[in-house]
Amino acid sequence: MIGSNGRLMKSNLDLDELLRGIRENDRAALGRAITLVESNSPNDRQRAQELLTDLLPDAGGARRIGISGVPGVGKSTFIETFGIRLVEDGHRVAVLAVDPSSSVSKGSILGDKTRMEKLASSDGAFIRPSPTGGSLGGVARKTREAILVCEAAGYDVVLVETVGVGQSETAVAEMVDFFLLLELTGAGDELQGIKRGILELADLISINKADGENLEAAEHARADLERALNILRPRGAGGWTPRVVTSSCLSGAGLDEIWEIIGEHHALLSADGELERRRRHQLLDWMWSLVDEGLRSAVREHEEVASKVENLEHEVLDGRITPTAAAEEILERFRS
Ligand code: GDP
Repeated sequence: MIGSNGRLMKSNLDLDELLRGIRENDRAALGRAITLVESNSPNDRQRAQELLTDLLPDAGGARRIGISGVPGVGKSTFIETFGIRLVEDGHRVAVLAVDPSSSVSKGSILGDKTRMEKLASSDGAFIRPSPTGGSLGGVARKTREAILVCEAAGYDVVLVETVGVGQSETAVAEMVDFFLLLELTGAGDELQGIKRGILELADLISINKADGENLEAAEHARADLERALNILRPRGAGGWTPRVVTSSCLSGAGLDEIWEIIGEHHALLSADGELERRRRHQLLDWMWSLVDEGLRSAVREHEEVASKVENLEHEVLDGRITPTAAAEEILERFRS
């Protein structure tokens, strides 16, 4: 069997080797396993599921942390600086990414090693760019599976980077334990640039680049945002109150505090089993999102539907048929 990456895959023997490699922290094996997980070929998909099933008992041991913010907010600098600190403290840090837009935002690829060279060259870190192509659901599925592989390989911190635009934050929030949003100070209108939806996902917001001339404005923004958050969202899931801090990767200020807050959050949610519950729910959400996605493409590809769908779309756009009637017709054709 030829894998999608062109490598000759000799079924079980290879999978066993891959398993051993992952457990022995062989980074090449880890990379190959994630390539397998990311493959769309049906053969590879099946083998990936076999691999994941074997790895599942060893997974689950990491702090899963989502990191979001608009391009330029300082995500890669933050991940590099924060990641290096964690590695120096004895952690093993995996960096993954979700960017369905084409994996290129403002010329930089999320999770690209060249954006985090020092961390990338560290023995305690593993960096993997966002899977490319396909729907958000497909990209998110691959990243979720990559998290499991990294955990089985012994990484105890998994940072999942995403861009601060579009739907990808929600997808990332659904695969992590803790969601960190990086923000910048504006000209007194701190809340304006922050979409309400994203705000509601964040367990922690950090006003980043709080250094030099920006320091005072950042402190003000922090206080304003904290007040606003208290009004918008008094208490989050599991009794956690979202926090607001300032950080700078130039001075290093705020980074220790962020790690402490992540620890507090972990302790609070672990204490009453909320973390476990949340992760179990995430597994179910994951399953259903794959069913939704699978059904949607099955419907779209169904012969009877495919021949009619373009017309129906036009009719809906032109107001000649209601979306409900069009949806019913599509489903009727699919069922028949
Ligand atoms: P990303 O697009 O969100 O990944 O942002 P980058 O990490 O690439 O950073 C964008 C720019 O902001 C770069 O020129 C960085 O040098 C700069 N930058 C990042 N972090 C800080 C910081 O803490 N303070 C200051 N002053 N500049 C920063």
